[in-house]
Amino acid sequence: MESNSEKSPFEKLLLIGPILKALSATGYKTPTPIQKEAIPFILNNQDILGIAQTGTGKTAAFCLPIIQKLYQTAFKPRPGLPRALVLAPTRELALQIQKNFETYSQFTKLTSAVVFGGVSQVPQVEALGRGVDLLVATTGRLLDLVQQRKVDLKNIEILVLDEADRMLDMGFFPHIHAILEMVPKKRQTLFFSATMPKECNVLAQRILKDPAHVEVTPEIKTAEKVEQSVIYVTKENKLNLLFNLLENPELSKVILFVEMKHVANRITEKLVAQKIPTGAIHSDKSQGARQKALEDFQNNKLRVLVATDIASRGIDVDGITHVINFDLSHLVENYVHRIGRTARAGSVGQAITLCTGEEKSFLFAIEKETRQTIKVIKDNPYFSEEAFNAPVYGVGKAKAMLEAKREANRNSNRGGGGGGRRGGGNGARRGGSGNNASSPRKLATSPASKSSDQSKKSSFGKKRGSFSRNKPKK
Ligand code: AMP
Repeated sequence: MESNSEKSPFEKLLLIGPILKALSATGYKTPTPIQKEAIPFILNNQDILGIAQTGTGKTAAFCLPIIQKLYQTAFKPRPGLPRALVLAPTRELALQIQKNFETYSQFTKLTSAVVFGGVSQVPQVEALGRGVDLLVATTGRLLDLVQQRKVDLKNIEILVLDEADRMLDMGFFPHIHAILEMVPKKRQTLFFSATMPKECNVLAQRILKDPAHVEVTPEIKTAEKVEQSVIYVTKENKLNLLFNLLENPELSKVILFVEMKHVANRITEKLVAQKIPTGAIHSDKSQGARQKALEDFQNNKLRVLVATDIASRGIDVDGITHVINFDLSHLVENYVHRIGRTARAGSVGQAITLCTGEEKSFLFAIEKETRQTIKVIKDNPYFSEEAFNAPVYGVGKAKAMLEAKREANRNSNRGGGGGGRRGGGNGARRGGSGNNASSPRKLATSPASKSSDQSKKSSFGKKRGSFSRNKPKK
C-alpha cells in the first residue's frame, strides 16, 4: 500500500482519481490554505462558514468536494432537478464558477449549467431540460425560472452562497430568503463571504447547522503580494496622470477601476482615441459586450480594461500587471477586491491609486483597516502637494462631502441644456460633439512645470479638466 508520505498533497485530502487527474491537467500541485482547510469538512458533510476573498482558491475549495460527493452518488440527472446549487452575485462570477466546475469535473460525467439575467433564457432552459447535476445562478434569473417551472429546487442536496457580502450589498438578500424556502431543509450549506457584516452573520447563523469555521485571511486584509502605492493628484490632472503612467510599457495588462459608469465610458473613449486598446465593463453594458471585453482582455487584445466594482466581481484574468484605482471607493472591501485582481495565485502585482484631496480620507480608512501603509509616490510630475496635505475626515463625512461636490458638478454640467440623468447612465454621450479622436495629440513624455498643480499642462492641452470635451487651445 502507498504510504501517506508518498501521496501528493491533493491525494492526502482524499480526493478521488478523476479529480486528481483534472487538477494535474490544470497544473495545480498543492492545495491553497482554504482548500486544505475546507475540503475535509465538506467531504465530511459539514456546513461551512468560510471567510475568504476571491484569489484564495475558494472556488475549487467548494467545487472539488461537491464534485466528489455528486460523483460518488451519481445518477442520470433529471430534467430541471439539479442536485447542487451555487448562488453568486454577478454573472461574471457565476460564469467563472461554472467554468471552474467544468474544468475540475472534466473526467467525470457530471454536468452543470449557469443561469443569469440580461440574456435570453432559451439556452439556459434547454440546458436545464437536459438535466444537470450542478446549477450556478444569480438569484433574480433563478427565481424567474423557478416561477416558470423550468427548474425545481426540491432535490438540492448542497447549497453554496458565494460572496454573500456582495449579494447583501447588491440587495439580493430578499431573493436569497425566497430561494431558501424552495430548497430542502435537509441539505448541506456552504457559506462564503469576503467580509462578515452583521446581516451576513445573521443569515449565516440562521441557515447553517453547526458549521465549521474556515478563515484564511483576517476579515480585511489585502493580498500580500500586491505592491501598493498612491499618487496624490488634483481631480483635473487625474487623466493626465493616467496617460503619464501608461507611457510605461510595464503596464501591459491593466485593470482600471472607477466608481461610476459614465466615467468608465469617458475614460475608455479617451484611451481609445489615443490608440490604447481599451474596453469597459459595467452594468449598463450588455452581457455580450462584457464577455467580449473580458475575453479580449484575457487574450491580450486589450491593454486596459476599465471596470466598475460590481462588474469586476469574479474577474479572474491571468497576468494582470497593474490595478489602477482611478478613483477610490469609500468601501474598504472594494479596495481589497480591486487590488486582488492582480497577483492572482501567487504572482506579484502592483496597485496604484490616484488620490485627490477629497479621497484622502478613504485612503486613510483603507490603511487603517488593512493595517498596511500604502507607499506615497512623489516623484511624478502630476504629484499634488495640495492633495497630499488635504485634511482627513471620518469616512462618512468625507463621503457626504464628495457626493455634495459631485452633485454640484452634475448640476453645473446640466446647465440649461435639458436635464441630465442622475447617477451615471450614459452621461458620457451627452453635451456636445467634441471628439478627441479627431485631433490626436502626442502624449507628453515630461509634462509641464512642477511649480504648482494649477500650472501643470495637460497632455491634451492647457489646464483642461479631466473630462472637458473642449478642444485645447492651440
Ligand atoms: P478563486 O479564489 O477561486 O477565484 O481562485 C483564484 C485563482 O487561483 C484562480 O485562477 C484559480 O484557477 C487558481 N487556483 C485555485 N486553486 C489553485 C491551486 N491549488 N493551485 C494553483 N492555482 C489555484
